[in-house]
Amino acid sequence: MSRFLSARFADLEAYVPGEQPQDMKYVKLNTNESPFPPAPAVLEAINAAEIDRLNLYPDPEGKALREKLAEHYGVKMENVFLANGSDELLNFFFMTFCDEEKPVAYPAVSYGFYPVYASLYRLPHAEIPLREGFRLEPDDYCGIGKNIVIANPNAPTGRAISVDDIERIVKSSPDHVVMIDEAYIDFGGESCLPLVEKYENLLVCQTFSKFRSLAGGRLGFAIASPALIEDLDKIKYSTNSYNINRLTMAAAIATIESNDYYAGNSQKIQANRAYTIEELAKLGFETLPSKANFIFTRCPRVPGGKLYRDLKARGVLVRHWEKPEIADWCRVTIGSREQMDIFLEKVREIVKEAE
Ligand SMILES: *Cc1c(COP(=O)(O)O)cnc(C)c1O
Repeated sequence: MSRFLSARFADLEAYVPGEQPQDMKYVKLNTNESPFPPAPAVLEAINAAEIDRLNLYPDPEGKALREKLAEHYGVKMENVFLANGSDELLNFFFMTFCDEEKPVAYPAVSYGFYPVYASLYRLPHAEIPLREGFRLEPDDYCGIGKNIVIANPNAPTGRAISVDDIERIVKSSPDHVVMIDEAYIDFGGESCLPLVEKYENLLVCQTFSKFRSLAGGRLGFAIASPALIEDLDKIKYSTNSYNINRLTMAAAIATIESNDYYAGNSQKIQANRAYTIEELAKLGFETLPSKANFIFTRCPRVPGGKLYRDLKARGVLVRHWEKPEIADWCRVTIGSREQMDIFLEKVREIVKEAE
């Protein structure tokens, strides 16, 4: 820390992203990326002609892409907001809607970025404990008198709540914004997007990083009432008006046009998820029910930290947190069948050593 850092950031604990080794020697199951490459049309969209136009700024309104998303989700362009990854969208949410008078609530075990933004903006915040088995109880959020952020399915647990439960929460907090982070919605969950036209206080957040194989392109988006989108726009134009680059915009349009390809990939991942859970059960692992492209699992004989380290030593990266409530557990991204077979083979070795 230099002596120049603003005092208000002295205690800030920054988010720690999952490891991103650049040498590719690992089977990488630690940050929930897709094992599948982007659709062929994406490669074609990022062509020489598009690169030739990189001397020009991109469309700050991102109209072509917003129209494409609006058409795909059956909403209007005025309902769509684009961000440089949904992490940036989260930043905009906290900056735009939360303050001393509008505190924020989120689950105590959830995406690690929520507490970082709460701390960055020095927000009064409530971390709501999950119930038995990491279950999120919707009643814990009803009428809580705060803005709310819920990842559905939740991370790192993979558990989902129903659209009816979300509607109850949204309905009970008409004077607060409820943001539902649907980063993993396309792996078997049920999206609450249809509620957007009914509730002006609901903000649904999605990303191209997981289901759409575009983590490296950095694109997230929100769908919400035009009034909320207008507020987000105000903050966006006060921070970074050209937040989506040209190549990502072109790639994203081709991505939406290739939806069947990605839906097929999701089917494969869901099948690999069922397979992995079943194989782990044979080894005595306890795995939470998952609607995401990852599982949260623990071995009765090998502590989470040890499993993580032993897997890493064998070339397989998974995610582990030291936080006491979840220290027994590892989060494992569901990759291709080949990747999961390597993971399972290494797990069998580690479990055998522990016997
Ligand atoms: C991965 C993830 C994000 C961030 O996605 P980006 O669009 O890559 O920034 C947001 N929320 C949750 C819950 C995630 O797991």
